[in-house]
Amino acid sequence: MNPGYELPVDDVSYNFAFLDEFAKREIRRNILKAISIPGYQTPYASREMPMGRGFGTGGLQLTLSLLGAGDTLKVIDQGADDSVNAVNLRQFVELTCPGANTTERAAEANIIQSRHRIPEDRLTADQILVLQVPTPDPLTIVEPSEARRKIMHGEGDYAPLLTKLYEDIVQFDEIAISNRYPTRLNGHYVIDSSPIPRFDVPKMHQSAALILLGAGRERKIYAVPPFTDAVPLAFEDVAFRTEAFLDSTGNRRRCDRCNSVTSYLDEIIHPDGSRHWQCSDTGYCSERCAQLKGAACEEARS
Ligand SMILES: [Zn+2]
Repeated sequence: MNPGYELPVDDVSYNFAFLDEFAKREIRRNILKAISIPGYQTPYASREMPMGRGFGTGGLQLTLSLLGAGDTLKVIDQGADDSVNAVNLRQFVELTCPGANTTERAAEANIIQSRHRIPEDRLTADQILVLQVPTPDPLTIVEPSEARRKIMHGEGDYAPLLTKLYEDIVQFDEIAISNRYPTRLNGHYVIDSSPIPRFDVPKMHQSAALILLGAGRERKIYAVPPFTDAVPLAFEDVAFRTEAFLDSTGNRRRCDRCNSVTSYLDEIIHPDGSRHWQCSDTGYCSERCAQLKGAACEEARS
């Protein structure tokens, strides 16, 4: 037996927030560096987590290094609080962070961890949004060498990326990127905006909340600091546009539950073939339903 091996003091001797204090300090130092250089992909020593890479380990490590007793966390996946990924991450935090609270209301949370969406509610300066990122570098599609990509980022050389967008226009008459839209921060670094839809990209521009993006597998952290310019790449004559959700008559579709005409909608096809649209952000939708006294919402759902 290894003489250096020590048994845990007791059965529940996990450190607060699972990570050891040194790991959390290192992540926080790298968060500060990422905030200081908006959009710069800061390398960090991504730890092994008790879940598969690709399940949000990068975002989770950011959240765990920031969370303290008394903080309130909301976890969402594709806009929903009750999807498998969100439920498991929330339970993990509840298990390892005694004293920290969890909520499904965006307004109550001071840290929001999300995958694939930015909440519909406008975030405030008191909140931090943590986004999970699979591929942090937008230049991966045009340059396989990381060493070369670093030089391109440093020089602000995004010509190959713009050429890629131009090829889309030639082929499809528009830029056909549905998510991970390349976005320029503060006039220099272009970031992968994570797998959020184009609809959410403008929410990064001059956001009051700090936005942190973490890629566990790729070991990178980058940030959109509060009140930073975040401009999606486009051309003078081909503007960036978001999903419009128009029906065949050109009108904006409504959420079937809460009647919202401003939210990002999920299309749901029922077994009878009929198509319905509902808010992707379930917390936002439910709160609007509560304001409508529930009756209209329950009818629409049934
Ligand atoms: Zn709704």
